[in-house]
Amino acid sequence: MYRPTVAEIDLAAIRDNLRAIRACTPPMTQVIGVVKGDAYGHGAARIAAVLEQEQVRLLAVATPDEAVELRESGITAEILVLGHSPADFVPYAVMNNVALTTVNQATTAMYGAVAGTHTVRLHYNVDTGMGRAGVLADNATEQILRSATVPHVGIVGLYSHFACAESDPKFTVLQAARFAVVVQELRARGLQPAMVHLANSAGMFTSPGVMLDGVRPGILLYGCPPVPTPTCSVRPVLSLRTELEMVKELPEGHGIGYGRTFITDRPTRMALIPIGYADGYLRALSNTARVILRGRFAPVVGRISMDVCAIDVTDIPAARAGDPVTLIGKQDGLSITVGELAELMGTISYEVLTGISKRVPRIYIDRRT
Ligand SMILES: *Cc1c(COP(=O)(O)O)cnc(C)c1O
Repeated sequence: MYRPTVAEIDLAAIRDNLRAIRACTPPMTQVIGVVKGDAYGHGAARIAAVLEQEQVRLLAVATPDEAVELRESGITAEILVLGHSPADFVPYAVMNNVALTTVNQATTAMYGAVAGTHTVRLHYNVDTGMGRAGVLADNATEQILRSATVPHVGIVGLYSHFACAESDPKFTVLQAARFAVVVQELRARGLQPAMVHLANSAGMFTSPGVMLDGVRPGILLYGCPPVPTPTCSVRPVLSLRTELEMVKELPEGHGIGYGRTFITDRPTRMALIPIGYADGYLRALSNTARVILRGRFAPVVGRISMDVCAIDVTDIPAARAGDPVTLIGKQDGLSITVGELAELMGTISYEVLTGISKRVPRIYIDRRT
């Protein structure tokens, strides 16, 4: 590794966050570890291994290939695929303890037909208001009961997903109520899935009774709460770091970077850092973001390029090549959060984290070991 730009992942923070989440869930509620999107950019195999060590019994991914990646890395906990799985993944799923999501009678029949002599474990997704995958709550009970009679399928789970738990508590309560009706009707008709789960990170804090048999926190596990969570204090897991590559004096009136969007208004000490939009440090941050260097904030000046960007270190005279620089995280008592960057980029913390590209090596630290 010759380039100093890295994403530092603190595994002790993952453990502490899991503990904090467990402390604010009822004792019988399981925490499902959501590790889709390469564990929100943190590296799915390593994060899943930590969660498994901490007795997380179910891990959730978005795609069949993400499930395969976890199995190939040695993860043995049960895995749930939240997104669509094609028929040709079913033989792998039944042989490797992977549960699939089903969304209607036809998909369930298709899964049963290719399960061979085995039973494919299914979680039924009920659409209580998201309007995407899932059987509409109004039709759910009949369809799920019919699906349960398909040979070689086991409906082991039932879930729904909130559309706006961070922004619309009223609609979230409505979704929870619609889901409760389906659960009740199924129970009355003798179908009792082993695991009924509903809440994502923001959903956990919306109303009592929403946690059921399981919760599915993703972003909370990674320490970026989507809503203020006074009862559940988590801390960021990922820091994005690099080093100053070079420092140069520019005269007043000199442009910096493509498009000359920044013109120096004084003799300026410009420093380069080896990170750009190909690393996920997006061009939208040009002339707006700042980094931490020698106990000060230094502004990003000019356009962010694919591989490099410039910062103004005129007010940090001691700055020199090799100095550590933090773009996300804490350094020298200062901090830059993923949420702050997301705001500047006009997006959400999820997109900032998952957007940190493959070119940035993930370095794992464990403050406890
Ligand atoms: C991604 C996802 C989650 C986790 O959402 P967070 O907001 O990160 O907690 C939970 N459930 C489903 C179905 C998801 O797709």
